Amino acid sequence: MVLLVTRATGGGVGTGVTVKGGGGVGAGVTAKGGGGTSGGCSISTAGGDVLGGGGERPDNGGVVAHAPTPRTAAASTAARSHAGNRAIERKSSTMSRGEPLPALERTLYVVATPIGNLRDLTLRALDVLGQVDVIAAEDTRVSAGLLAHYGLHARLVSLHEHNEHKRAAAIIESLSSGKRVALITDAGTPAISDPGAALVRAVSAAGFAIVPIPGPSAVTAALSAAGIATPQWLFLGFLPVAAGARRAALERVRTLPYALVFYEAPHRVAATVALLAAELDSRREIVIARELTKRFETLHRCALADASAWLAADADRMRGEFVLIVAAPDDDGTEADAGEHDALLRPLLAELPLAQAVRIAVAQSGAARNRLYQRALTLQKMVKASS
Ligand code: SAM
Repeated sequence: MVLLVTRATGGGVGTGVTVKGGGGVGAGVTAKGGGGTSGGCSISTAGGDVLGGGGERPDNGGVVAHAPTPRTAAASTAARSHAGNRAIERKSSTMSRGEPLPALERTLYVVATPIGNLRDLTLRALDVLGQVDVIAAEDTRVSAGLLAHYGLHARLVSLHEHNEHKRAAAIIESLSSGKRVALITDAGTPAISDPGAALVRAVSAAGFAIVPIPGPSAVTAALSAAGIATPQWLFLGFLPVAAGARRAALERVRTLPYALVFYEAPHRVAATVALLAAELDSRREIVIARELTKRFETLHRCALADASAWLAADADRMRGEFVLIVAAPDDDGTEADAGEHDALLRPLLAELPLAQAVRIAVAQSGAARNRLYQRALTLQKMVKASS
């Protein structure tokens, strides 16, 4: 058995992760609905023990940490407590042994929970979930199972995409009265294709501290095991449902020099994989990561052109939860030319046999025969699938 351990540099998480044997994953670029969300924001922070730390918090890539101006008397009290938290942060950032710390009053803990295997709950998550007064959970029935498994008894309140704003007000009330609150979702890290961002924003704006308790997330689990050597990746979460919007979302990213990472549900995975092969260069590699950390965990790597056939070969391969990772395009202008090639091939294929269509397209474009041939095959499959 070989265990791969990475070296966190300067206590940073997410950037600068060193992967043995070259080829890092980790310097993530995150976009929801096609738009980035990382630049120039401000957040409040509070303490916690920092593993591998040393010195102040690591550089956050343009994110400025500060305490917002409190707006009410309650918020003022919160701000005082917040200042205390910052002091704890300074002290604790020199710790590296990870002693358990008491959960702080007037603090919202954003806690990652397992994506399948219940033993993936971190020790810190266990500490915090065992101490908070209230846990806001996406589906209280799902989370009740997790709490029962660990013998935890905090009060659960529901917080999902339809009540997040309303619930935020109640949670701010709880924090004002000195409570400790945790936020969890059904699986993985809150706010990653899950509710949580609006609550965090509201709580932060009210002057209370936010503490992340990092842990499992399907996106990082899949990337860590995909073996896709790319310094940058773009997380697109779920593609839109409507056909036009799905295509448009891919059109926006097809030429970007990043690996593309998607979440997908079982009833849409076949259609999404077919769409990726049709809209992106079908020679790009895909890793299909299914049921991570669970009994039927599968990681399959192939060319995009072959992915639909692999899925269709066994109905079980379409069951469960999926992360799809498409490797970055080759640095040869492949994707930039793809639209042009499609425009040339489509009308030819509508009238002529494949070989003849490809011959004419090669003569007109000067592109490599094999490249146009592969693309023509994909286009032909798409036409067949849609007729
Ligand atoms: N917040 C979660 C996280 O941090 O990963 C994601 C929640 S999102 C609503 C659920 C999606 O995550 C699933 O549809 C699937 O695409 C992905 N996912 C969650 N658990 C997974 C698993 N065990 N294996 C593969 N993908 C998973």
